[in-house]
Formats: sequence, structure tokens, C-alpha cells
Amino acid sequence: MFDSLTGKFANAFTALRNRGRIGSGDIDEMCGEIRKALLDADVALAVAESFVAKVNERAQAALPDLRQSTNQSQAIFAIVNEELISILGGAARRIRLAKNPPTVIMLAGLQGSGKTTLAGKLAHYFKSQGDTPLLVAADLQRPNAVNQLSVVATNAKVPVFAPEVGNGVGDPIKVARDGVAFAREKFHNIVIVDTAGRLGVDIELMNEAKAIRDAVNPDEIIFVVDAMIGQDAVRTAQAFLDGVGFDGVALTKLDGDAKGGAALSIAKITARPIMFVSTGEKLQDFDLFYPDRMASRILGMGDIQSLAEQAKQAFDGDTAAKLEAKFAEGDDFTLEDFLEQMQAMKKMGSMSKLLGMLPGANSGAMKKQLENFDEGEIVRTQAIVQSMTPSERREPKILNGSRRLRIANGSGRSVKEVNSLVDRFSAAQKMMRTMRNGGSIPGLPVGVGNSAPQSGGLRKPPPNNLPNKKKSRSGNPAKRAQEEG
Ligand code: GDP
Repeated sequence: MFDSLTGKFANAFTALRNRGRIGSGDIDEMCGEIRKALLDADVALAVAESFVAKVNERAQAALPDLRQSTNQSQAIFAIVNEELISILGGAARRIRLAKNPPTVIMLAGLQGSGKTTLAGKLAHYFKSQGDTPLLVAADLQRPNAVNQLSVVATNAKVPVFAPEVGNGVGDPIKVARDGVAFAREKFHNIVIVDTAGRLGVDIELMNEAKAIRDAVNPDEIIFVVDAMIGQDAVRTAQAFLDGVGFDGVALTKLDGDAKGGAALSIAKITARPIMFVSTGEKLQDFDLFYPDRMASRILGMGDIQSLAEQAKQAFDGDTAAKLEAKFAEGDDFTLEDFLEQMQAMKKMGSMSKLLGMLPGANSGAMKKQLENFDEGEIVRTQAIVQSMTPSERREPKILNGSRRLRIANGSGRSVKEVNSLVDRFSAAQKMMRTMRNGGSIPGLPVGVGNSAPQSGGLRKPPPNNLPNKKKSRSGNPAKRAQEEG
């Protein structure tokens, strides 16, 4: 969703980097471009202005020191990154569990914002953390809402408290209160109360939400908002803040073509943290919100931590540990790893969504590849890799013409496809090496790979980290493989 914003940020940085010595006017110019990019992305005017003013003030103040530096644009990039993290809410915030269970979480928001869907995702998430959530169907207004929550609960394999059929029948306040009592009685440690929304903000909606709030005394009220509604998201958030109050925000439909303005404005304007994001209709399309990771994505630095965490969930423990150890030791990424990852990724859902978390995913060339990504490709690729011998998978450089023909015949694919896979794998391997060595990815500001805030995950520098070290390369592929391996 941040594609256009990322592209414009990248342009502003590229212009700055090409300046040679950066002067005060160059910073003004970059800030002007950033301001325009933010407004184009539907960021609220007040937020865009205060962001740009802060970046300008800090960059101008740093200028005397920067004049001595050889890496001026990188220092300014770091300031923009920090300010972006700050408007996205600073440190990540999680649900505070009540001292005396159950922890009551109330979801509020407009109809269609994605509350019911999110209720299921939250329940699924908490269950995976070892909690014992209960869903409470207190949206008795929207047609089919109770039924939908029951279906979601079944999918998430969590119980639902749904004594009323809904569709306009029943007292939602009583259902919410009884639901919490039921959870206490049955020792559920978390209760998630789904409430009704309206198509627009109105008094009746606010009154019902307030009455439910007062009846169940929630530990956390989460305001659920559709990121696609642009500037309206901020207005709606403000209305809910004034009317019901809330502790945190869940942004939904981040997979859509929203321009990102809501994400950037809401935390700042409401002074409430974004806690969760929803990126699709399935239970798994859900993420905890990390301001630093979102800033990385917006700046085109990718979200390696989230990717690594999702990979960890899909890989069995051994595979993940093995891969981390390999990376830490500076070992190379082989076709065997590629195949293992691919098999695990099939478990994780959409490949293009995952690849979208890689650094540079929003850069023109990579974006085009992602758009053209054919999910059936995984099956074909798997067939090709499985037709290789273990030594070919470890050492693709030994794949001469006759071996490629044998693999093509064995997998039922063409030699051209085998060649294309080997080429793509080599490119991926090269990129992995660059990332591991902290180098920058083509199309990104110089040094971005180094300056990305990383806390754990797969990316660890090898012990003898020497970025950009030029080596003479042997013309003999086997020897070169040895030199590079
Ligand atoms: P509610 O009225 O607030 O309970 O909203 P629902 O949970 O019923 O969601 C409204 C519609 O949006 C449904 O069709 C959902 O499948 C869809 N939806 C919810 N969250 C997302 C999301 O993150 N991405 C996409 N693409 N669709 C979503």
C-alpha cells in the first residue's frame, strides 16, 4: 500500500545523494518533496507539516557536523527514519493483560471496518500464544454478524458466546455482560467482544458502544479502522475517541490499494498506538504492529524481521535454527535451502505478499516482478529442484548442458525453465549475500542496508564482516564457487 510513498521517498533521497555536498537549501528541497509525497498519500495536513518541520529542524541542526561527514545523505536518511518511527507511535505496544483474568478486549468501529474478521484473528493469535480466548457476539445489528463470528470462531478453533441470533434482535449490552461472566466461570483468560458498527458515525452507535463499555469495563478498547477510507479514517477515529474512547488501533485492509495516509496519521492525531494490522480476509493475514518495521517498509528497507518471524512459524524448529546458524556463520544460501524455504512458504500463504517484505520490494524492477509473480511457479520450481541430485542443489554451478537436459526431462519442464530457475536462484543468492554483509540493495539509498534498525531475526553480520570488499574473481566456476562460498 505504500508503493507510491516509498517511490517518492526514494526519489527525494536519490536527489539528495546526488548533491555532492549537502547544503541548507538541499534539505529544504528534500523536505518539500517529502511533504508533497505525504499529502499525496492522504496523510493529514497537520501531521505532514509537523513531520516535515521536525525533519527539517533536525537536519539543519545536524548540518555543521554533516559537513565533515562523508556520508551526509545517510545521516539525513536516519533522521527521516527516526521521525517516521516516531509518528507511527514510537515503541510497539501490546495488549496489557489484566491482573485478574479475564482480560476484556472490546472492538469498536464502523460497520464493515473488519471487526468481526479481526475478532477471529485476535482469538487465533492469542490461542497460538497459549491463551484461552472466548469470542462474544455482541454485534446484534449487522445482518449475519453473529453467524459470521461463529464461523470465524470455528475456523480459529475457539469457543464463541452467542446466545442471540442477532439481525436486530436481542440486547447487546446483556450479551456482552453475560459473555464476560461466562468467561470468568469457564476460566477463559481473554474475552474479545465484537460490537455493532453503523455505516457512519451516529449518536445511537456511540451510545450502544458506551453502554457496552460501561457494562464490561474493558481492559483494552481497540478501535478497528479500514485503512482504505483515507482521510475519513482520521475523522472517524477522532469521533470514536471523543465518543467512546479507545486504547489502541487496529488498521485493516492494509493489503488493499490504500495510500497509507491513515496509518501515518492516526497514531499521531489520536495519540493512541496502532497495535494490530490486518492484511487480508484469512485468519493468518494478521500482524502485530511495529512502528520501526513499518517505517522500514515505507522507506523501502523491507521488513526482514517480520519475514523471519513468519518463516520461523512455518518452518519446523530445526529448519529455522539450522538456517539461522548458517546465516550467522556466513554460509551460503543453496538450492536446498531454497527448496526447504519454498516448501515452508507454501504453508505461509501468498508468496508475493511475503516477497513484498524484502528490502527494495517497492523499487520499480522488483515491484514489476512481484506483480507478475505466478503462484503456480512454486509447484514448477519445486519439480525442477527435486529432479536435481543433492550435489547439484548444493553446487548449482556444476549444472552443465547435459545435466540441465536431464533435469528438464525428469521434471517435465523445458530446459529454458531450468535455466531461468538457475539464473533467478543465482540472483537471490547474490542478494542474500549482499544483505548478510550489510550492503545496500540496488535502488535504495546508499547504506540503507547498514542503517536499518535490526533486532534479531535472520540477519546477522558474519564474524568477519567486510562490506564492499572487492575480490578478484576466478574465471573457473568451481574455483570461484570455492572463493565465494
Ligand atoms: P465488521 O462489520 O466491522 O464486522 O466487518 P467484517 O469483519 O465483516 O469485514 C467487512 C468485510 O471486509 C468482509 O468482507 C471481510 O472479509 C473484509 N475484510 C476484513 N478485514 C480485511 C482485510 O484486512 N483485508 C481485506 N482485503 N478484506 C478484509
